This record gives sequence, structure tokens and C-alpha cells, in this order.
Amino acid sequence: MTNKKKTNRDEKNLTAKQRMAIARQKMPERDPNERNKDFKEVNLGLTEELAIREAQRCLQCKNAKCIEGCPVGIDIPGFIKKIAEGDFLGADELIRRDNDLPAVTGRVCPQETQCEIKCVRCKSDAPVAIGWLGRFVADYAMQHGKAAAKKVTGKTGNKVACIGSGPAGITCAGQLAKMGHDVTIFEAFHKPGGVLVYGIPEFRMPNEIVQSEIETLKKLGVKIETNVIVGRTVTIEQLTNDEGYDAVFIGVGAGLPSFMNIPGENLKGVYSANEYLTRSNLMEAYNRESDTPIIRGKKVCVIGGGNTAMDAVRTSKRLGAEQSIIVYRRAREQMPARAEEVKHAEEEGIEFEFLTTPVEVLGSDTGWVRAIRCVRMKLGEPDESGRRRPIPVEGSEFTIDCDQVVVAIGISANPLLTKATTGLKLNKWGYIEVDDNLMTSIPGVFAGGDIVRGSATVILAMGDGKTAAKNIDAYLQKQ
Ligand code: FAD
Ligand code: SF4
Repeated sequence: MTNKKKTNRDEKNLTAKQRMAIARQKMPERDPNERNKDFKEVNLGLTEELAIREAQRCLQCKNAKCIEGCPVGIDIPGFIKKIAEGDFLGADELIRRDNDLPAVTGRVCPQETQCEIKCVRCKSDAPVAIGWLGRFVADYAMQHGKAAAKKVTGKTGNKVACIGSGPAGITCAGQLAKMGHDVTIFEAFHKPGGVLVYGIPEFRMPNEIVQSEIETLKKLGVKIETNVIVGRTVTIEQLTNDEGYDAVFIGVGAGLPSFMNIPGENLKGVYSANEYLTRSNLMEAYNRESDTPIIRGKKVCVIGGGNTAMDAVRTSKRLGAEQSIIVYRRAREQMPARAEEVKHAEEEGIEFEFLTTPVEVLGSDTGWVRAIRCVRMKLGEPDESGRRRPIPVEGSEFTIDCDQVVVAIGISANPLLTKATTGLKLNKWGYIEVDDNLMTSIPGVFAGGDIVRGSATVILAMGDGKTAAKNIDAYLQKQ
């Protein structure tokens, strides 16, 4: 399926000098003072003209370093060339050879630390906007009759259970279904999508996009059973011994929130970011007509510097906070959040207290949060993460008045499934141990995504889902 545009027949005539003269195009965005009051998407997406212009910046390097930076090895110059030629559906097809969820990764991948940082144009001006171009073609294909997924007819007769419907589970299930296996996803929540629906807010990852991918899965014949907590509703042993599943993929993520373990953390008005975002996104508390309760603080402190912290603080602003503050123990340069999210947060009026750590949450007579007591930090030698270790500055204590605190300092493995599964080997942090084929200590049971890697990224979870599917298929053929 192609969509050649006559307008770009001159693409191949552009010289390298002409390409170098084109500046990086700007992503059209909504006005910060308008968007910080609602949950509609912030980035509007490149227009066809902007996409073609941006694609013309690509130098079509023979030894394209950008591909090395992509965890799933997409043919980046290949798909960009097709955009420059106006063949948007061809570009989408090319991306989809290696990436099952391009509309998702185009929105949430940390491109600035993966493919774009490797782009040769970083040396002279700015990298080619690979992520925005990926998103453009995926959205274009969705709007312009992407070929509907066909149910696979040649069935193998093998039954596979995928536990969890995040990017790892979705990718694994889709790949296995395409190979002809009979796949069922078991999901604990009432809606599939994993972090893409319960964690990342609508203004960054519209639910419509995720649900469209889920529909594609269903068209491939994948069955989805929601409200099933594997380890409680049913065990892995029951799935394999009683329900006839020949293989299992565990992609349950790492959804157990961490706390600071400081006095006052159990006061009313303190949320984990997980709970806060799940209430707002999955349970739709952001919609005033929903009956899900949520605290709408007037002055909200969010503790942490990752994507989760950024999503929580921007959510608080949209829920009506007059002041929303990020409290982060390191400096701006060490923040793990995507650079674009930090920029968007600043534009939307989010304040930042860098080099600051809370040591106590202070409460009122009625048991509600009234402030946090903090200390200033300075940066010492690098720690095991390679980032400079924050060290408290003596005598630097101060308080920040607030009526709500959201803790977004990380997550860990939820032991619910792993504890209920006999013979499943875990590492010292409670994550599942796998071999090179992503098989666990139980034959026929594979795992991938955050439950193996610890908190990572969408594209890495998808990469695991794909690798596991290939190895599950090989395992089943041997049986
Ligand atoms: P998940 O997405 O966590 O999905 C696991 C699924 O398994 C969930 O639906 C869960 O309900 C289900 N489940 C759990 N236990 C059971 C059980 N016992 N039985 C049945 N089902 C179960 N990464 C990026 O690349 N870019 C970003 O911008 C980004 N932003 C993020 C923002 C937030 C708020 C969070 C929390 C994470 C973010 N991440 C981001 C990280 C990324 O979302 C994860 O790395 C990725 O989703 C992991 O995928 P997964 O499939 O392993 O697990
Ligand atoms: Fe194009 Fe940059 Fe990749 Fe070279 S490194 S092929 S310029 S995106």
C-alpha cells in the first residue's frame, strides 16, 4: 500500500548542503496556559508539510548511527526517506516491521537519549526529529486506512497465556497470534494497556490510541480477560495444568510504589504517584462527572524527577492546583524525565526545587498535610547509577507549605504473582530471573518488561515481548 505524492519527486535531487541548511522543524503545541487546564493532548503532531521538510534534513547516512540507538533497530533512514518522498503509508509499514506500537513510542520514547542522540546532525545543529516523524506516520496510517489486521487462519493448536497487558504483554500476544498460536491475555485491571492507560496521562498518551492498538490485537484473534489477578484469581500452575496452556509469558510490570520512609508520610493528603495517577487516568477522576474520589490540592509538592513525577505534577495543575512544585534531590541535568516533559512542565507553570530532599511531612491538628520539612543537598561523587550522589547540606533545613504531597520516587516488583508461583526464581530485588531466551526457571514460562528489568521504558518492554514471542514459538515447536 503506497501513497506517493507528486510534490516530492525532487527529494532525491536535494544536495547534502541543501539538507544541512534546513533547520529542525517545530512541533505544533497547544498554548501552555490553555492546555494546563484540561487533559487534551499537548503536542498536535507534525503536518504533512512539516514532516516532509523535517524528513529532508536526514542525510541518509550509509552507516546510520541512529539505528544503533534504537532498542528495536528500526530502519530509521529508510522510513524517513519514504516520508520525504511522500509515501507515508510505506513509511508506516517499514516501521511496523520492527515496532508494533509506533503511535505509542513516537509519543513516549526518550528519543533524546536513544536514536536522536546518535544522529550525526547533533554535531552541527540539532538531530533529525526521529520520534516526531515516527508518530506522524503512525497517526497518518491510523487516520488513512491502515490495512486492517487479519485474523491468522493457519493455527498451530498451541495455547499461550500472556499475563499483563502493558507494552510487553501486548507485543508478545500480537506476535504469537501472528504466528498462529491461540493467545489469551489476563489483565488485573478492568481495562487493558498497562502503564499506557493507568499511568501516563491523556495529555501525553491519548487512551484512544492505546485502545486502537488493543482493537488490532483482538482482530488478530487475541482474547483479553480483564479483572483476572494471576496469583490470586488463578495461578500459573492452574493455567498450565488445568486450563491447557502450553506456554506462559509474564509481563506484569513493576507496580509496587516506593515511599520515602520519613515521619508523616501516612498523613491525609499524601499519595503515591501510582495511586494518584491511577485514580486520575484509569478511574477517570480527572473528569468531574466521574464518581472516583481524588484529592485536589491547592499547593501540591511532587517528590521525584522522573517521568512519573512529571506526569503527576502536571496532572495536579490540571486538577486545579494553584501551585505545583517538583521537589528533586539532584540538579536539573540529572533528572531522568524526558527532556520534552520537563520543558512542557516549565511552560505550564510548574515550579522546581532542585537539590532538595524532604525529611518530614508536617500535619495539622486534623491529621492533614500542612507542609514538608526539607534539607538542601549538594552533589558528591557519582553513585552506582553513574549520577553524582546527593549529600545533605548541614543546617540547611527549611519548610515548604503545601496541602498535598505525591511521592514519585520509584517503583518495585509487586510480589503478588511471584510469591504465588512455586519454583519461580527471583533476584535479590524480587524481579524475575530469565535466561538468554527470556525463559524463567520454570520450563515454558517466559517473562519480560519491567518485571525482569526493573522500571525501564516502553520500547524495552516491547522488545522483550517480541523476543519472548520468538522464543516461545521455538519452544512450542520443540515440544
Ligand atoms: P506495565 O506497563 O506495567 O503493564 C503490566 C500490566 O500487568 C498492567 O496492566 C498490570 O495491571 C498487569 N498486572 C500486574 N500484575 C498482574 C497480575 N498478577 N495478573 C494480571 N495482570 C497483572 N516509559 C517510556 O518509555 N516513556 C515514558 O514517557 C514513560 N512514562 C512513564 C510514566 C509513568 C507514570 C510510569 C509509571 C511509567 C512510565 N514509563 C515510561 C515506563 C513504562 O511505562 C514502563 O517501562 C512500561 O510500561 C513497562 O511495560 P510492561 O509491559 O513491562 O508493564
Ligand atoms: Fe538521518 Fe541522522 Fe540517522 Fe544520519 S544519523 S540517517 S542524518 S537520522
